[in-house]
Formats: sequence, C-alpha cells, structure tokens
Amino acid sequence: MGYDNLLHLFLVPFPAQGHVNPLLRLGKRLASKGFLVTFTAPDIVGNKMRTANINISADLTPIGDGFIRFEFFHDGWNDDDPRRYDLNQYMQQLELVGRQVIPLMIKTNAEQKRTVSCIISNPFIPWVCDVAESLALPSALLWVQSCACFAAYYHYYHDLIPFPTEADPEIDVQLPCMPLLKYHEVPTFMHHSTVYPFLTRMIIDQFENLDKPFGIFMETFQELELEVIDYMSKIFPIRTIGPLFKNQNENVTGDLLTPDDCLEWLDSKPPSSVVYISFGSIVKLVQEQVNEIAHGLLNSCLFFLWVMRPPPRRISGDEPVVLPDGFLEKVGEKGKIVKWSPQEKVLAHPSISCFLTHCGWNSSMESLSSGVPIVAFPQWGDQVTNAKYLEEVFKIGIRVSRGENNGDWIKRIVSREEIEKCLIQATSGPAAVELKNNALKWKKEAEAAVADGGSSHKNIQAFVDELKRRCVGVASIPATSRDESAATKATVVGEELVNESTGI
Ligand code: UDP
Repeated sequence: MGYDNLLHLFLVPFPAQGHVNPLLRLGKRLASKGFLVTFTAPDIVGNKMRTANINISADLTPIGDGFIRFEFFHDGWNDDDPRRYDLNQYMQQLELVGRQVIPLMIKTNAEQKRTVSCIISNPFIPWVCDVAESLALPSALLWVQSCACFAAYYHYYHDLIPFPTEADPEIDVQLPCMPLLKYHEVPTFMHHSTVYPFLTRMIIDQFENLDKPFGIFMETFQELELEVIDYMSKIFPIRTIGPLFKNQNENVTGDLLTPDDCLEWLDSKPPSSVVYISFGSIVKLVQEQVNEIAHGLLNSCLFFLWVMRPPPRRISGDEPVVLPDGFLEKVGEKGKIVKWSPQEKVLAHPSISCFLTHCGWNSSMESLSSGVPIVAFPQWGDQVTNAKYLEEVFKIGIRVSRGENNGDWIKRIVSREEIEKCLIQATSGPAAVELKNNALKWKKEAEAAVADGGSSHKNIQAFVDELKRRCVGVASIPATSRDESAATKATVVGEELVNESTGI
C-alpha cells in the first residue's frame, strides 16, 4: 500500500486507559491528515487492545489520507510477575526496557522503509523525550489533563506560590487566571498525604523535561479554559486540540476491556431518563460505598446503567466488591450492570440524563462535550480539581464528594441519602434544567472547536504543518542504543495481576 511518501509518527502512551484513549484519538486524527502512524505500547496493554478490537493490527489500517498500525513490545517481565502490581516498580521497568526497545523498534522500522520522523508521547513517561533526543528526532507531548491542572503542577514544580504542606495541609491555593482552589480542590498529588506519592515524582520528572518537546498538545479546547490557556501559552508552546473523541474513525478503538452491549437497552428507555455511572478504569470503591450507591439508585427510582469493572486478580486479600444481596432482583428492568461500556456512544445516547462520574479528565470532557450533566464523585489526583471546575466554572455538575483531602476522606462514605438527593437534583427541577442548558452550551462550543475553522481544528492543522516542517529531512537514525538483547517479541497475556494505579 502507498505510504512511501507519508511522514511516519511513532506514538508512545503511558500504559493506562485514560492515556491510551486520547493518544490513540490523536493518532487517528493525524493519520487522517496524511501521516503514517505507529502506535506502540507494552504488550500487556497491546494484548488487551487486540482482544477488545480486531482492528488493532501490525498491518496498515487506512484512515483518511493516511494509515495507522500497532507494534507492541515486551516489558521484560513474565506475564504473572507480581511486581507489575506496583506502579512505582513497573514504571521503572518500563523506562529501563523502553529506553532500549524503542530505539530498536525505530531502527527496524527504518530498515523496513518506514523511517520514523517524530515521537509523540503522554505525560509521566518523560524518558520518551530523551529517547527522541538521543535519536535526533523531534518529540511532542499530548497533555491529557486540564490546562488548569497543568498550571497547578507548573506552579508547584517551580515553587512559585504556597501549596499545602505537611505542617499546614489546609492552605488554599490562588493560581493566576484560575478560581481560588480550596486545599481539597488542589490535585491531590500536590498534598504531602497523597496516597500515590510516586505519581508526584512522575509529575515532577515530567516538568523537569518539558523543554524537550517542541509542542505540548492539550486535550481541552480554548473556549473551555480560555484565560488559563492564554496564560500558560506564554510560557509553553501549548496548542489545545480537544475534544479529540469527536468526529473519529470508530473502527479502531483503544479499549482495554471489551465493551458490553448496552445501546439496545438504552434504546428501550425514554429520552433523558437514565443515569450513567462509571468510575473510569482505575478507581476502586470500598464495599460500603458501593452499597450506598446501590441503595441511593434504588431509592431514586431512576433508570441506571452502571459500569462495574471485573475485579482484578490480586496478590492477596482485598475482596472484590459486590452488589448488595437481592439488589438486581429489586432493580429488574430499571437498571443494567455492565463490565465496560462504549462510553462515548453511551454519553451520546438520547436516553442518558446525567453521569455519576469520578471526574477523570477524559470522562469529564466526554460528558461536557456530549451535553450531559454530571454528578461529581471525585476520589483523588486531578479528579478533585476537575470536579470543582465542573460544578463552579463550567456549571454542569453537582459535587457529591470532595475527594481525598477533604477531612477524613478514606473513612468518609457518601450516604445513600446524599447520592439520591444529588441524582434527583441533577435530573429534575429547575437546577437540572440549568445544568442541562449549560451542558448543551458546552456541547455546541466543543463541536464548534473541532469543526472546520474552529480553535482546535486550526491548532491541529498548525500542528500538522509544524510536524511537516520539522520532520522533513529527519530521516537518519544515529547508531545509539543498539542493545540487541532487549526482546521486542509480543507474548500472549492471560489473566494477570492488575496494577492499582494504571488499571493494566
Ligand atoms: N471508558 C469506557 N468505558 C467504560 C469506562 C470508561 O470507554 O465503561 C473510557 C472513557 O470513555 C474514558 C476512559 O475510559 O475515555 C477513562 O478515562 P478517564 O480520564 O475518565 O479516567 P481514568 O480511567 O483515567 O481514571
């Protein structure tokens, strides 16, 4: 097939669903504009993608004017290695292997007449930009959280304003061009007490390396975060290109689990009648909280579609959560439980009334851009900041939880009464009408941003032009990192240990 004249982009995601999705969407968008795109990942991710979608293939899949293909590599550990359970250890291993394997893959591609011209990666794997630099290749970054969180990390990294400390954890934070963040609305990685301290380290490492990528592309849109984007654009080469999920080729998807069929069930429900519930790919709720959500739903008498991911196999203890006894019988046709949903399609379905979500940035953007109001149930990380924005800035949400740093969060369970109250508020009465109107307004703005001539559309085009300018002539592969011992062979992964912090 004719890819001879296409520039070849090599995409490397952080190995988690919330990073794979936006980077793959960017890959498809760039392919459609006439690039050859190779999407790579450790085979523990690749095998899941292949299982969930038959179009994940090493062969060329045509998309618009270009092509996408997939090439996975072995992370050097046995399939059942328990160290994968520890993200800290796994990320070190991935870096060790990736620094060797990716140059080899790029060399092999060159030998097969697919010379790579640019590497694009996600945050929190900053070594990928080092690899690009060592190969004299340009690199770009796709930032997959909000620009507000980017600004918070930047000010934290450079110590530009006071953040909560161990001695004083309740400092509120005033960042430029942003509303005051109460201490519990600051991304929880900026708190001394964070439950994932190594993620703070990864953020710092990323900011240490941010001078390497020639462009920072963001999964947000200008109209959504206007002021902070303007402000941060004066410091970094930022281009907002979201929401990337709009107008996408749907044949190639990045699901790590096979979506269950639930669209027909949604078809059978009246317009704006179903609450969609999902906590993304990583968050795990305690049993007591699951019970309260279940009873809150039951008491609200609303229809619901609830994603309950299958429990991962674990090294020890930690019982999988279950639904309360007799729940499904009581619910009957009112509710449906699925292991994984085709979320973009669910949110676009007319029968969805609101989304009870953990407020991961992808879920937040997908909901807002689909015109679906939110009941915000953040847990940690950027989710708490996103929830604040969804409620107070975008005005499409109601917060039912304030997340990890709000008092004794670990022990605090949101009661069935609170959940029921918020669900009713978000789905009926004047407050619900206002939320829906605001959500529809953002949907329109999002559609305009990605339409011809819109802000994200123009930025993608500028990105494409810049890529072409930078990449032409970048063809030679220096003879660095030639350690042939690193295996690039893919292996079949069966049921494996799942990393709490990436969901892989
Ligand atoms: N998702 C999905 N089906 C589900 C649950 C989630 O397709 O049942 C997708 C969702 O559309 C989003 C991603 O998984 O693109 C989750 O990313 P997010 O940033 O919201 O949360 P994370 O999983 O990173 O915590």
